[in-house]
Amino acid sequence: MKKNVFRDSVTASPWQTIGKPEVGTATNLTEIFDTVIIGAGITGITTALMLQQAGQKCIVLEAGNVGYGTTGGTTAHLNTFFDTTYPQIESDFSKEAAKLVAQTGKDAIAIIKGYIDRYQADCDFEYKDGYLYSENERETKELKEILESSAEAGVEVEEASENGVKVPFESVIRFGNQAQFHPMKYLSTLVKAFTDMGGIVLENAFVTDRKSKDGLSEVITDKAQIKGRNVVYATHLPPGITAFSLRCAPYRSYVIGARLKNEQYPHGLTYDMQEPYHYFRTHEIEGQKYLIVGGEDHKTGHDNPEEAFANLESYLRQYYEVESIDYRWSSQYYVPVDGLPYIGPMAAADEQVYIATGFNGNGMIFGTISGKIISDQILGIENPYSQLYSPSRLKPIAGFSEFVKENADVAWRFVADRFGTEELKAVADLKPGEGKVVEFDGDRLAVYKDAGGKVTALSPVCTHAGCIVNFNAAEQSWDCPCHGGRFDTSGKVLCGPPQKDLEQIALPQK
Ligand SMILES: Cc1cc2nc3c(=O)[nH]c(=O)nc-3n(C[C@H](O)[C@H](O)[C@H](O)COP(=O)(O)OP(=O)(O)OC[C@H]3O[C@@H](n4cnc5c(N)ncnc54)[C@H](O)[C@@H]3O)c2cc1C
Repeated sequence: MKKNVFRDSVTASPWQTIGKPEVGTATNLTEIFDTVIIGAGITGITTALMLQQAGQKCIVLEAGNVGYGTTGGTTAHLNTFFDTTYPQIESDFSKEAAKLVAQTGKDAIAIIKGYIDRYQADCDFEYKDGYLYSENERETKELKEILESSAEAGVEVEEASENGVKVPFESVIRFGNQAQFHPMKYLSTLVKAFTDMGGIVLENAFVTDRKSKDGLSEVITDKAQIKGRNVVYATHLPPGITAFSLRCAPYRSYVIGARLKNEQYPHGLTYDMQEPYHYFRTHEIEGQKYLIVGGEDHKTGHDNPEEAFANLESYLRQYYEVESIDYRWSSQYYVPVDGLPYIGPMAAADEQVYIATGFNGNGMIFGTISGKIISDQILGIENPYSQLYSPSRLKPIAGFSEFVKENADVAWRFVADRFGTEELKAVADLKPGEGKVVEFDGDRLAVYKDAGGKVTALSPVCTHAGCIVNFNAAEQSWDCPCHGGRFDTSGKVLCGPPQKDLEQIALPQK
């Protein structure tokens, strides 16, 4: 299996074979920037480019490298239909909202295509048909509703007679003018355009805090303190405990890149309606075609990641003759409590701090449109999406049951973690590459044994909200089940809202 270190994970996605995008040297860090953007994924870089193009002086601060987060581990389908379906949007928001969401998809794809044309980006962009299919009576009924609502919202959609893959189906609909691309080639193009215009990207700069002073924000990183008039958190959740920790639930999603024994690669973008769902597409990487199949999602820190990969592989092998599996990776996304993302000023009273989060599995679209919404808001330009995606929107009814469920889960964890009395195995039981939370000398420890047999111990208490982390063997990380904070085996923050690493514990020598 291919490995690399350019991501917040140990597994490699095929997008990283091109290496890390060039960012040049970051200079003039002491000047006052118009906008400080935190996070160098598609959201942060699109926002930075749009503002720099409008004449602003911008800096992007990134904990790892460009594409280190989910953008480096995405599957890069560009859709006009979303994880929150049009019938759901109609019933939880309104028919008008459904139309605006449909327009979001079209606008975002047009923005992406516009940049590709403008900068002549060689990023494998192709328009595709998208197929959504049902496999039983209940799904067929739901599919019919999706067809009707999608059409009414203004999306190009119709009944179809094929689903583009070898999975039998009951009913299928086809969405026109969907697309796919190579996300890291695209991101590299945007980064080059941004830095060519004088924009600065500071990598390996983990942001721990922000302070307001004299009408400016001071953003604290472990490398430098950066001053700016506006701040954009393009980090999924902002660091620390905020309302967004409760409004967005972290999920991990699994993907396989497989070579097939024959040429039966799917020609479109195909999705089933199972829960969790599966999806397919094809991409050529360095001259070799790959079938990309994804799914088996679950809440971060819950369920077994290795089992998720095994399930995905057996699902794939049910339908396709696999020559080899060359890529197997997972990444994280955030599900918003009422189904739509939060994009705009973080608080109604503070127009200088912005957030873009809760994209579900549709962040290529929502990350791109965030760039447009937030740059318009900073530049004082009216944007038709401001209200719909406002982070301050009040939705007491929509999504309420999900909200309660997500937070009940967090509450349960707190209780179970404090009073759980499960007998835990001794350190010596660990196999190489395995980690466990064990009881040791009366304390609970997150213990890991590396391939060479060296045992390290950490405090298992997540530095974000105090939940107990679980070991993720597939990604060799400690994952928090509450808000999706993830740490590597040395305790270093990989992603999510924690601001501090897990505490290292010196093990007594025997
Ligand atoms: C497996 C998978 C498949 C997906 N497939 C699709 C798809 O087909 N189509 C689609 O539209 N969407 C898809 N998504 C969703 C989409 O990939 C994401 O929503 C999108 O990439 C998010 O981009 P982003 O820039 O907001 O976040 P990221 O790309 O995660 O970037 C955030 C950056 O912020 C940095 N950061 C975080 N905290 C700090 C800090 N404190 N200081 C400094 N930097 C920090 C991180 O290192 C990271 O680089 C998928 C998601 C997953 C998990």
